[in-house]
Formats: sequence, structure tokens, C-alpha cells
Amino acid sequence: MKNSRKRSVLLFLLVSFFLCGVVFLSFELCINSSNWALKPFNEHLALDSLANAGKIFDRNSVILAQSVNSKRIYNEDEQIRKALLHTVGDENFNISTSLQSKFRDQLFGYNFFMGIDSPEFLKKRRDIHINIDSKLCKIALSKLSGYKGTAVMYNYKTGELLCMVSTPTYDIKNPPDLKNKNADNDGIFLNKALSSSYTPGSVFKIITAICALENMPDAANKKFTCNGAEIINGQRITCMGCHGNINLRDGLRFSCNIVLGNFAVALGKKNMQNTTASLGFGKSLNIDFVNTEPSVYDLSADAKDALAWSGIGQDKVLLNPIHMLTIVGSIANSGISVTPKLIKEISGESTHNKLNFKQEESKRYMSNEIADSLKEMMLYTAKNSPISSLFSGSDVCAKTGTAEVGSGKKPHAWISGFSKNEKTPVAFVVVVEHSGFGGEYAAPVAAAMLNHLQN
Ligand SMILES: [Zn+2]
Repeated sequence: MKNSRKRSVLLFLLVSFFLCGVVFLSFELCINSSNWALKPFNEHLALDSLANAGKIFDRNSVILAQSVNSKRIYNEDEQIRKALLHTVGDENFNISTSLQSKFRDQLFGYNFFMGIDSPEFLKKRRDIHINIDSKLCKIALSKLSGYKGTAVMYNYKTGELLCMVSTPTYDIKNPPDLKNKNADNDGIFLNKALSSSYTPGSVFKIITAICALENMPDAANKKFTCNGAEIINGQRITCMGCHGNINLRDGLRFSCNIVLGNFAVALGKKNMQNTTASLGFGKSLNIDFVNTEPSVYDLSADAKDALAWSGIGQDKVLLNPIHMLTIVGSIANSGISVTPKLIKEISGESTHNKLNFKQEESKRYMSNEIADSLKEMMLYTAKNSPISSLFSGSDVCAKTGTAEVGSGKKPHAWISGFSKNEKTPVAFVVVVEHSGFGGEYAAPVAAAMLNHLQN
């Protein structure tokens, strides 16, 4: 009797597991079958899939990739091919975040019932239209002048991602031999805008200023004194100038390390952590199924010197370029952050083939009043610094950064900002690795991009 009960329980468990497995597999088959079939390691099929795949267009209907006579061909302009490599993708699917990797099944026209061998008339091959302006990307690439880094620009009202360039890059028509390790090719398959994070240096001062405005009733009038250097908790923090007794607005304008470092110390760890968390640090953004590398605000120690360093974007602070784009975009857009959108439309030959994407919901990063204060401070900063001549004639609000990345290495140059001109509601972020000052290496890239849009 006892044995028979045991057997019944065992049988019941086995049947339950079997049924759970069937349900799980059926679910996976419905959701992920195309991904299984077109996995990159399924090399022969994956390559074939691109030989007869749909087209990829930029926002002006420029063809970026298409298949002709069973061959994948790309834009005729070498510089556009290089500038768009990380967005469009390669044929071996090394760039995992690219369109040709992520949307292989859509481009190929995978059929759920017939799989990859379905007859032509059953294939729902789709074309992908993106918001990117390929000419703008070409300009950004040329202005990056061979340095490694990234340049991004988007419409902060609609979220349309207009420019996304990552370097190093290569011409997909003439891929380099990557078997031999070469420092020049480090990160060649990485879309740095989406999948990397950098020490931000002074562009982070924008975030310290947001924290001050959120937590100090007298933040706008509070002053600190810069004598060129200060010992905080036994650590010497230095500044590029000797700025005297100045407020937050002038602290940003002069990019004063002592003033912004002291603001961070006065604000304390908790306030800095709360503000960075509410601005999306520690979380990925979802850009059409690609998750960005999260930005990091992680104090190495609960000490005043670590706080001061973090307030000026050093210590262990790391910033993802696209994430920073949404922060400056939210300042421009009355505190509301609109998530960047790469894909405009995925459509087939008939309208029922159209695929709709839900854009990630907009988030409020800060109050309207704080966004307005920051906007004014960033306009004042851009107008009263050496970069003003680059942006003459436009209402540009911006902050540069020169991030120290270790002794013996040249710093990363940054700029982040936006145009408050109604006709060009765009925000931008540029990072030029191991180059020099933000104003000298990153600002000209942003200025050339903006200039292209405004002319
Ligand atoms: Zn100073």
C-alpha cells in the first residue's frame, strides 16, 4: 500500500515535470524559434540569411544595406559604411548590438511554420527604417579624426536618434585581419555609445549641480572659495585656476574643481546617491531591444575626499554616453527624459507586415524649475568659455569635461549639451578617448554636427 502511494506520487511528479517542459518548450518555440534558427554560430544559415535579406534605410531613405543577387552590399560611400558599421552590423555578427544581429529574423523573413527554408512567397522579409542621419554620422566620424570614442545626437522631444558613431571602426567591404592582436583594433566590435562607460570628469558637474539644486534651499547663492588647491580629508584636490569666492553658476562656468568638490562634500553621500539613482544610474536603458551599459556612481569610501572627487566626476564614477544624452536631453526638455529611439519602422511589402515598437516610457528626471536653472547655467557656461566661438549664432547650452584616466595617459575629452533652438531640439554627447581637453577635442565634433543640422 505504502509502495503504491510512493509510486503514484513519483508518477504524478514525473508527469508534472513533463507537462511543464512541454509548456516551456512550446512557449520558447513561439517566442524564440527564429533566434534559435538564426544564431550566429549557425554560421552557414546565418550568412545565407543576409544574402537575401531586407534593406536598411536611414531617415532620408539612403540605403545603408541591401541584398542584390544573393550578395549583401552596403552604401557606396566608404565613410558612411565606416560611420554606420556599429549600427548596421557586420556579416559574421560580431557586433551583437547591431541591426543585422538583433533583427536578423525580420530582415530574413523567418517563417514560424516553415522555418528558414520556407518558399519565397511565404517569407515576410522586412525592411528596417532608422532615425539615423547617415550624413551626420559621416561628419561626426571625420571630426573624431582617427581617435577612439563616440558621438551621439538625438531629438530630445521625440527621442529620434540622429547620430551614433563609435570608433575604432572599419570598412565592411575591406575588413581588417583581426587575427593578429593590435591595440588599434581594441573595442572594434563594441558600440561604445551603447555598451561602454567612461570616467566623466567635469561633465559630471552638471549632476552635482542638479543634486545641489534639489537638496540645498540656498544652492544658487551658496559660495565656496577656490585658491587653486585644497586639502580635503588629507587629499589634495587641485583646480586649473584660482577662482576665488564663487557660486554654483560660476563654479560650472569655470569648471572649478574646488567649488563643485565642496558642493558634493556639503551635500553628502546619501543625497548624491539619491540624485544619481533618480537620474537612472545603475540601470540600463532599453534602446529598441539593446540594453545600455549602466552608469555607475559608487563611492570607493565613505570619506570626504572620495565625495569631493566624485562630485567632479572622478573616483569610481562611470558614465554611459547614451545615458548622459538622456540627462542633458531632460534638462532641455523641462525635466522629462525621452528614451532615444533608433528604429523608425520595420515594414514589409504589405502593411500587416509592419512591426510596431513601444518606446520606453518617458521619465521625469528632475523638476521643471531645476531643469530651467540648469539650462540657464549651461547656456552661461557655453557662452562664457572658449567653446563659444565654435557655437556662435546658436543657443547652445553645454559643459565640457577632461577626465583624468591614470598617470601617463592622456585624458578623455567630453562634451555634453543641447541646442535650445526650437528648430533644432537636439542634445549631444561626444567622448574622444585619450586626446586632451574637452573644449579642444570633443567640442569641435559636436559643433560640426550641430552646424550640419542648422544649415
Ligand atoms: Zn577653481
